[in-house]
Amino acid sequence: MSIPKTQKAAIFETNGGKIEYKDIPVPTPKPTEILINVKYSGVCHTDLHAWKGDWPLDTKLPLVGGHEGAGIVVAKGDQVTNFEIGDYAGIKWLNGSCMSCEFCQQGAEPNCPDADLSGYTHDGSFQQYATADAVQAAKIPKGTDLAEVAPILCAGVTVYKALKTAALTPGQFVAISGAGGGLGSLAVQYAKAMGLRVVGIDGGEDKEKLFKSLGGEIFIDFTKTKDVVTAIQEATNGGPHGVINVSVSPAAISQSCKYVRTLGTVVLVGLPAGAVCESSVFEHVIKSIQIKGSYVGNRQDTAEAIDFFSRGLVKSPIKIVGLSELDSVYKLMEEGKIVGRYVLDTSK
Ligand code: NAD
Ligand code: ZN
Repeated sequence: MSIPKTQKAAIFETNGGKIEYKDIPVPTPKPTEILINVKYSGVCHTDLHAWKGDWPLDTKLPLVGGHEGAGIVVAKGDQVTNFEIGDYAGIKWLNGSCMSCEFCQQGAEPNCPDADLSGYTHDGSFQQYATADAVQAAKIPKGTDLAEVAPILCAGVTVYKALKTAALTPGQFVAISGAGGGLGSLAVQYAKAMGLRVVGIDGGEDKEKLFKSLGGEIFIDFTKTKDVVTAIQEATNGGPHGVINVSVSPAAISQSCKYVRTLGTVVLVGLPAGAVCESSVFEHVIKSIQIKGSYVGNRQDTAEAIDFFSRGLVKSPIKIVGLSELDSVYKLMEEGKIVGRYVLDTSK
């Protein structure tokens, strides 16, 4: 396979600065890395946070964002034994970790203090050729639709793990706050596949339509509902047993601690800049609720999330545009106008 010296990429020099679509060198894989010819990459709200510099963790600069990249292995370092040239592989948020700290040792690799993050500390999938640590790179079955599997690599894995973290049982209610976005539209389907009754919270008719088409049961439009807390509690006869927060709204996150059912679990996933989750100590104790953070997933969660997709239990509601259009995707995302997930075709 011939590998070019240069390639197209979407790159920025400063946080919030111009995103340039231009030629940059193709990276060389380290001995432990594979080089993936990225065909498609999902655009996650995390990429927007990274570009804006929203979080108290510096990005590398200049930076090529992206961490939902699906493609084909075109080269590998001489220590790589688990991938062959021609295999399908995925770039995840967790590009690599130390594999020897207390957290890696127990399979909590995303929590590694030395985690290397695609599209954050390591150039990501908004380029035609990207490197990934072979231990962490996702295995994608040959013949998989690479555009459709792309969002599974972050959004899918993350919501799958968040649902496991909520530890619900079939027949219970789960509320997905932000149900019409990238993570939310996949969360609805994983939840349904796990036998849960799904309540979706988001804004607008297009998101409601998508939610219903994915098997969601009760939709609450936060732009039209005066008292969201009461509406959800009434619709679920006392509140959902679990809540997966994938909105980028601090108010919506705090609200979920109010409407969650007694003994229920609130899972925090969405990461609005500078947000604090408020929960009344009195209600927290009397209702004995739990609030848990959930951060992407490990290798096993990734394999399981991809398996749900491969078996047709989860479909990606995607819209494909060119890599050169990344800045307009960010604009739509900022305005909350994205229904499902946008995926970039790296050839355009
Ligand atoms: P997205 O923009 O596609 O979706 C967010 C959705 O929230 C939109 O549909 C929006 O309309 C909806 N929303 C806005 N205000 C709301 C409100 N008040 N109530 C209910 N819904 C509301 O974003 P995404 O790509 O799905 O990412 C969501 C968040 O999850 C981001 O903050 C991202 O950084 C974070 N994230 C976290 C992890 C993790 O491991 N914890 C992984 C991936 C993404
Ligand atoms: Zn992501």
